[in-house]
Amino acid sequence: MAAFQEKTEAFSREKLEAVKKRYTEEANKRLNAERLTHFIQLTQTDEKRLRELVEDPWADHDELNRKESPIKENGVYKHFVLGAGFGGIQYAVRLIEDGLATADEIRLLDAAGGFGGTWYWNRFPGLHCDVESYVYLPLLEETGYVPTKKYAPGQEIREHAEHIAAKWNLEDKTLFRTDVEEIAWNDQTEYWTIKVTQNRGPSEPAVKLNFHAHYVYLAAGVLTKPQIPDIPGVLSFSGSMFHTARWNYSATGGSQKDQRLTKLNGKKVAVVGTAATAIGVIPEVAKYAAELYVIQRTPAYVKRRDQRPTDLSGFETQVSRKKGWQYERQINLNKFLTNSAAPGEENLVGDGWTDMPAYSAVLGSPGHGLEDASPEALAAHVDKFHALDLPHMEAIRDRVADTVKDPQTAEKLKPWFPSWCKRPTFSDTYLETFNQQNVHLVDTDGKGPSKITKSGEQEYPVDVIIFGTGYQSPSSGLGNPAARTNVKIYGRGGESLSDKWLSKGAATFHGYATYGFPNLFFTGMNQATITGNNVFMLDLIAGHVAYSISQAERRVGPNKRAIVEATKEAEEFHTSEVLRRAAFYAPSAGCTPGYFNGYGEGSRITDADEKLKRARGVPWSEGTVSFLEYIQNWRDEGSLKGLSITSAA
Ligand code: FAD
Ligand code: NDP
Repeated sequence: MAAFQEKTEAFSREKLEAVKKRYTEEANKRLNAERLTHFIQLTQTDEKRLRELVEDPWADHDELNRKESPIKENGVYKHFVLGAGFGGIQYAVRLIEDGLATADEIRLLDAAGGFGGTWYWNRFPGLHCDVESYVYLPLLEETGYVPTKKYAPGQEIREHAEHIAAKWNLEDKTLFRTDVEEIAWNDQTEYWTIKVTQNRGPSEPAVKLNFHAHYVYLAAGVLTKPQIPDIPGVLSFSGSMFHTARWNYSATGGSQKDQRLTKLNGKKVAVVGTAATAIGVIPEVAKYAAELYVIQRTPAYVKRRDQRPTDLSGFETQVSRKKGWQYERQINLNKFLTNSAAPGEENLVGDGWTDMPAYSAVLGSPGHGLEDASPEALAAHVDKFHALDLPHMEAIRDRVADTVKDPQTAEKLKPWFPSWCKRPTFSDTYLETFNQQNVHLVDTDGKGPSKITKSGEQEYPVDVIIFGTGYQSPSSGLGNPAARTNVKIYGRGGESLSDKWLSKGAATFHGYATYGFPNLFFTGMNQATITGNNVFMLDLIAGHVAYSISQAERRVGPNKRAIVEATKEAEEFHTSEVLRRAAFYAPSAGCTPGYFNGYGEGSRITDADEKLKRARGVPWSEGTVSFLEYIQNWRDEGSLKGLSITSAA
């Protein structure tokens, strides 16, 4: 409260109202733009040239074809993990470390040709983690690995995923280049049946497989379906174009290891998009392209990254100070992200994430709980966040003005939305790039480009178009785990998981299981928790699932197959606990569109039932530490209340 008063004193009420008015105008401009939601989903289009943009550029098909498949037709496996990114890997490691499985009892599978998920697919120049490596890279204590930089480069993160997989013997347990199409529960056998298709590269036909699993874990990510704007004429473009999630080093020159993009010398290049990905890409492309046109729909808010090498001599004394240091640091970061650090508590990470007092509007906060949901209380709640946010966003806008020399360009690069509407971006070079003679900001004032013609956009002829235009919004299909994975999932009696979600909205027990779908576990933030540090969130869900299964197995006893299922009452109770706190997220209602809010979906929906369905899917609004306490209380109670535990017949 003290902070709130201090901030409102620093900024007059008139200033606050004027800024809020500008935010609303800018959001409405975008919400009303004709092409706001016109995207082509590249993994789903039938257009060959566009579909090729998401083919795997990295898989070594010859090498992979020589390997024996760890998954056999009609094989039966105890633990099946969909996804070999950090989410899937952490599920597997947890199962092994908690004594629930040997590596031999686990099978993983991924559409990718290797481990890493996000970090396998994304190899664009300039890629780093945006959360500090020491809290983002998982299992640092267990592997003894020390990241080379405060924000590790993409290649290092992918290699860390590979090292973890090797250390826990997951390499020959994982089937790559394979798409899961259907996962169905068999009421008679009480196993899941999984239908997949393996892509074996250009020289061999694809292979279809069916197999069975006792437990299924969905760790298929949220930002996995690259999209480009459906700009009229896109197919008539005769130059190179690609999406940043499949960087085309053949077109640009260089490689992930050697990021000299020499083939761009003399070329005119357009980068479409100005969010986290583009912020990394643009300074790198600007070093080589003759002319770079940055096509902007909404300016990002860019904080200093303050990148630096890890001080190896001081790592043990400053970072890895004692056993359990990584978890402690992750929790510490979360407290600072959710305004729940105790007075005087040391800020261990101390970076740009930890000085965003109002970002908790989207991450949740125990310190800013909402007890009264009357219109007056809600308005005051929203205002409180604006007041906390204003100094922060003013500083961000001032930094643009101080860094970018041309005042008109600087003006267009200033973000006019509150911090909680989009994920922050971090760069020590992005804004500076606009001082280069060869870099041109093409600001579309919230609309995006209107047309692409044969050789380039009318006013801006280009040779190469790079789309940094993101991914299908994780909230599409009401965020249901089947839609997120592009998989048809059928539970007891053939019930479709997507239909369950679409008929009434999210329904989970602690965010990881749902009634009617026994022995199926998923990750995600709906009805669970959201943190800036996604890998930490994935680990805590994996840990909670592993705990639930281990207790269930203990109950049914040895040599029996446990069937673990959320009860209908338990998921409704959990949903009511989430919903009871959902009004906390009121500040997001006025947000500029983006993937956080399904490109403004909330503001287009007026039907009360539809609004309620969406409200059911919000995360726990009191922050991660509070969510951990909530699930710990459930564990301490000891009866596994809410889970039906039986053994297979
Ligand atoms: P993913 O890493 O996305 O892995 C999921 C895997 O599932 C993918 O490999 C996919 O191929 C596979 N899959 C999906 N559906 C199917 C299917 N039907 N069949 C077969 N396989 C399937 N978060 C942070 O906290 N900090 C960061 O710095 C950060 N940087 C990011 C940078 C980029 C460019 C992107 C796109 C995201 C970033 N994120 C970051 C978010 C990031 O996705 C998570 O941190 C984390 O890596 C997600 O892990 P995951 O295993 O849940 O999902
Ligand atoms: P985003 O969805 O965040 O951004 C897409 C960009 O494309 C936005 O600038 C968007 O503008 C723009 N865009 C969409 N349609 C058009 C159009 N028609 N014309 C012009 N521009 C358009 O995707 P990103 O890949 O940048 O990031 C996704 C997430 O991945 C991040 O939020 C972050 O979580 C993670 N990430 C992290 C990184 C890191 O540093 N570690 C790096 C990259 C990604 P508008 O805002 O108007 O919609």
